[in-house]
Amino acid sequence: MPQEKYVFVYGAGISGCGVAEVLTKNGQRVLLYNDSEKALPQEFLDVLYSGNGQYICGKKAEDYLQQTELFVVSPGISMRSTLVQEAIAAGIEVIGEVEVAARLYKGKLIAITGTNGKTTTTTLVGEMIKTLPVKTAVGGNIGQALSVEMQGLGKDDWLVAELSSFQLEGVTSLKPNIAAILNVTPDHLDRHGTMEDYAKAKANIFARQTAEDYLILNIDDKIVADFAKTAKSTVCYISRKKQLEQGVFLADGNFVLAWNGERKIICPVKEMKIFGAHNEENALVAIACAFFAGVDEEKIRAVLTSFEGVEHRLEYVTTIDGVAYYNDSKATNPDSTIKALESFEGHIILLAGGRDKKTDLKDMMSLIKAKTDDLILMGEAKKRFLQAAETAGVQNIHVVDTFDDAVMLAHSLARAPQVVLLSPACSSFDMFENFPHRGRYFKELVRKLEK
Ligand code: ADP
Repeated sequence: MPQEKYVFVYGAGISGCGVAEVLTKNGQRVLLYNDSEKALPQEFLDVLYSGNGQYICGKKAEDYLQQTELFVVSPGISMRSTLVQEAIAAGIEVIGEVEVAARLYKGKLIAITGTNGKTTTTTLVGEMIKTLPVKTAVGGNIGQALSVEMQGLGKDDWLVAELSSFQLEGVTSLKPNIAAILNVTPDHLDRHGTMEDYAKAKANIFARQTAEDYLILNIDDKIVADFAKTAKSTVCYISRKKQLEQGVFLADGNFVLAWNGERKIICPVKEMKIFGAHNEENALVAIACAFFAGVDEEKIRAVLTSFEGVEHRLEYVTTIDGVAYYNDSKATNPDSTIKALESFEGHIILLAGGRDKKTDLKDMMSLIKAKTDDLILMGEAKKRFLQAAETAGVQNIHVVDTFDDAVMLAHSLARAPQVVLLSPACSSFDMFENFPHRGRYFKELVRKLEK
């Protein structure tokens, strides 16, 4: 009898191992491959071997491609990497981890994407959906791999998935009951090439939906609003800026839901704990998702008014001598920093800079000019940021050498009612492992100052 072919899983990280185990348990013969040597727990390997699978590191993976019928790429690995390209060239079907989940999952799915606000919105929806009397899980770009999170969920249960455009590139059968697109702004152009390609990847979230599925679109975002033209699903718009006949929107300081002739006031905006216009947008999307999933308004309201937000997103740290400190380390692009700046009345001391993503700085700098009292620049991006700030006419610019210097300087300058805001508009990799590391370090420094 000829040997059964392999499902090749590329990458032995948490998600790769997770999906390898899921596939094995589903009767597939898995070849798990990692570029570099990496020890894995025996327990896990036993599962892999029990399905006649294999684990190899560093060896010439090409030799195994002939025996491969399906190639699964871990979320952390680029579709453009050499090995993936070789698999494609060999005529093997290449899919992402999310596609594995989509093929195996039988339950109900809410999928959320956008350039910014995904984690906040997904977490918020996750909390709302938890109030339903069924099993629920949250995963994707947060938590564990989707294929792992969905284990144990039955056909009436709900899975809430945060999906990045990278993850959406690799799906061919995803069909969420409810899909939501928050916004589409220039980010990740290094990997997607053009805005059109980037928008196309995002559109994959609703491409296979049909009329009984819902698509939540932010009508205030031109690219997102235009997705309605190609959608076959039932579209529900959300808007911060205008009142809608049908949809979820703001009216007289309230979150309002209007659907099929009914109009419900969910709650006053000011009762929500997370703040800023962007979070209102996230809340509007979350309300819509939860509503179509059958969560009642009382429960939606209870979650909205108690949700404290997600770490590193406009996170309140502490107040020292009347000056509040905020950690917005997650703001890795100018658009996010703009959202943070817009969330305050003014009198901001802004800490920005890090690894430069080379995005346009003009809009951000004019807002910085209007809203900040001092701008403290650091990291690899500081020169380009300085130039852009000077061109925009920003006053009181300080350029520092280290992250510690930036925080110390902010502390020495700050007087109530000013606020100190870390919202770098850059990635963190020039000085830190990642943005959570940067955010935690910031909080540590601030708490030391408190003493
Ligand atoms: P994501 O998971 O998409 O990166 P997060 O919820 O983690 O989004 O938020 C990241 C940052 O993006 C926040 O710190 C905030 O500055 C900004 N942001 C959040 N929601 C929005 C939104 N709806 N529109 C624009 N920017 C947003």
